[in-house]
Amino acid sequence: MRIALDLDGVLASTMHVWLRIWNAERLPTLTYESIDEWDFWRRLGITEREFAEIFSRAWSRWREVPPAEEELREKVRRLSEVGTVDVVTGRPREDGRYIRSWLELHGIEYRALLISVSKKAELGYDVYIDDSPRLAEELTGRRGLLLLRDQPWNRSVPDNSRVRRIRGLDDAVAVLTT
Ligand SMILES: [Mg+2]
Repeated sequence: MRIALDLDGVLASTMHVWLRIWNAERLPTLTYESIDEWDFWRRLGITEREFAEIFSRAWSRWREVPPAEEELREKVRRLSEVGTVDVVTGRPREDGRYIRSWLELHGIEYRALLISVSKKAELGYDVYIDDSPRLAEELTGRRGLLLLRDQPWNRSVPDNSRVRRIRGLDDAVAVLTT
């Protein structure tokens, strides 16, 4: 079983640092739970490029980026007993060194790290563990089960035979082994 494990919103809670930067410099003040849409930045009157710039600044402060759940290293290890785990992310190449440092700091083991991936659904993984509501649409008509990591910005996506909502990586292991 080949598993594509997402970085932001699944392994790393990058939005916490994104919000720290935003709230230090801009208005309105935002909370984590208020980020209830994938394209939430549109409401803020900023461009996607500005959103992405803050995201890259967040990764440049990689030591501040918290793991998305406790005992992450052990949970990823358990997942690798179920299948081959690749970390697959759309982050741009320039963030690669920060990402590698972060994964090393947190002891995350994986087979390969794929950076700057724009169309994950075309990679043909058996399982995608991801927080993107868009990936559910992109996987329509393709192979691959989406284990959608619960986040405020993906709550509008309903479960179906190809999409299962999970609260964390232990849920993923449970779904894949039962
Ligand atoms: Mg993500």
